[in-house]
Amino acid sequence: MRSQTSKRTGEWKSRIASELIEILGTDAVISSEDELIAYESDGLTGYRVKPVFVVLPSSTEQVSQVVKLCNREEMPFVPRGAGTGLSGGALPSREGIVVSLSRMNRILEVDIPNRVVVVEPGVVNISVTNAVSAEGFYYAPDPSSQIVCTIGGNVAENSGGVHCLKYGVTTNHVLGVEMVLPDGAIVKLGGMTLESFGYDLLSLVVGSEGLLGIVTKVFLRIIKKPQMVKTLFASFERIEDAGASVSAIISSGVIPAGMEIMDNLSINAVESTVGAGYPTDAGAILLVELDGPGAEVNVQTPTVSEILKGNGAIEIKVAVDENERQLFWKGRKSAFAAMGRISPGYYVQDGVIPRSSLARVLGEIGELGKRYGLRVANVFHAGDGNLHPLVLYDPEIKGESEKAEELSGEILRVCVDAGGSITGEHGVGFDKKRFLPLMFSEQEIDTMNLVRCAFDEKGLCNPGKVFPTPRTCVEPGMQNHSSKPPPKEMGEFF
Ligand SMILES: Cc1cc2nc3c(=O)[nH]c(=O)nc-3n(C[C@H](O)[C@H](O)[C@H](O)COP(=O)(O)OP(=O)(O)OC[C@H]3O[C@@H](n4cnc5c(N)ncnc54)[C@H](O)[C@@H]3O)c2cc1C
Repeated sequence: MRSQTSKRTGEWKSRIASELIEILGTDAVISSEDELIAYESDGLTGYRVKPVFVVLPSSTEQVSQVVKLCNREEMPFVPRGAGTGLSGGALPSREGIVVSLSRMNRILEVDIPNRVVVVEPGVVNISVTNAVSAEGFYYAPDPSSQIVCTIGGNVAENSGGVHCLKYGVTTNHVLGVEMVLPDGAIVKLGGMTLESFGYDLLSLVVGSEGLLGIVTKVFLRIIKKPQMVKTLFASFERIEDAGASVSAIISSGVIPAGMEIMDNLSINAVESTVGAGYPTDAGAILLVELDGPGAEVNVQTPTVSEILKGNGAIEIKVAVDENERQLFWKGRKSAFAAMGRISPGYYVQDGVIPRSSLARVLGEIGELGKRYGLRVANVFHAGDGNLHPLVLYDPEIKGESEKAEELSGEILRVCVDAGGSITGEHGVGFDKKRFLPLMFSEQEIDTMNLVRCAFDEKGLCNPGKVFPTPRTCVEPGMQNHSSKPPPKEMGEFF
């Protein structure tokens, strides 16, 4: 294999550019330094790498041809949706290509009788619901980024959202995918039906963070809109009481569609940005959404109100109409962006804990914030135990961003110690791979790597992500892949 550095000669670059243009056309190949800047990072802007090319294919066949070229040239490639990922999952490889799926954005089929919508990967999440809403259906997984993020990115990250407590995350709504494997082969896993024969490879692909190939078509399950939706809003003096309410509601047997908590810092950030009507002196607010048949929701609403009262709620409101309901949610959905109002920089953490530990873990996060001298705002999918602590810092203050990163890492340790996970929905990507050993032994990580190797022997598809140290597949059958130092080329991809 030639050294990666030698590949970056002008002659090599113009030869590859010509081949890419032949496959895709001139307007679908980006190589100018200025235009490449837009693809240097995803939503986690602290990491930036400029790729050699960005390509914008319009069909599965084009994706396959590009991947075959990458395979022949041993050139890494990184799939990219809308770039809203928060773990550096779509961070380019220095020697590689970014395959942006943004032009593959067609809804291919709406099949109401079978409750399936078939889409290309670049379709924006909310567009799926928009396409079936008039028929009384919707697509349940609703990340807060749903007006921008793509179905391809959702599949790769197994994305969640505010309504995933009751309806499940992306994997519960994907019936099949078509994908281009890292050698360029096109395969279909699953399809229009709920059951299919064979190893459940589809489940491997959903949540694989773009390491097993490029998804080019997705079969999505849609569900009927509930007959009734009621959203309750409760304010508390102490965030611990909001956390205890969440456990109490679930223990009572009521499963709300979603339960979201925001603390005082987040409330104030949101109020100064969108004015959702949250009380700025509250220690925390809890949003509870109940949905289902009218008779059920009408019984659950007073039950939940009583639980909230019993756990110290100061004020409880039930949205009187759809406008008020949307306003309650508007605040929650703009929470991340609103942080810019109260801090010049912030780091979004994503960890999971058992619901019953909410009150204790929130207390520990507060203590950590004090110890590091940094403010931590909390906004989270409380029903799922999926925390999103936002560590606020000033990038202009020397050493403060490093301190924020360290504090974020400490928060993950607290989550794992509580029996949780280092990520709930934002993925491991580039950012969190160093934390994988907190949860998994070397043997467990190697076992996961064996799966990756079965798909991608050369390690070209989104390399440098998820696995903590470069792991290779160069000697299939090795007992411990990680014990072998990576070939130099792997290390040079970043
Ligand atoms: C304000 C904000 C709020 C957010 N809220 C949520 C939330 O509530 N829940 C949640 O889960 N996430 C949330 N996110 C994170 C992010 O939006 C999701 O991870 C989303 O799924 C990423 O989609 P994307 O199209 O932007 O993918 P990208 O960021 O472009 O890529 C994400 C990963 O998917 C891979 N990928 C993309 N397309 C494909 C494909 N076709 N085939 C194979 N791999 C592919 C990439 O290589 C990368 O590893 C939020 C982000 C922001 C900025």
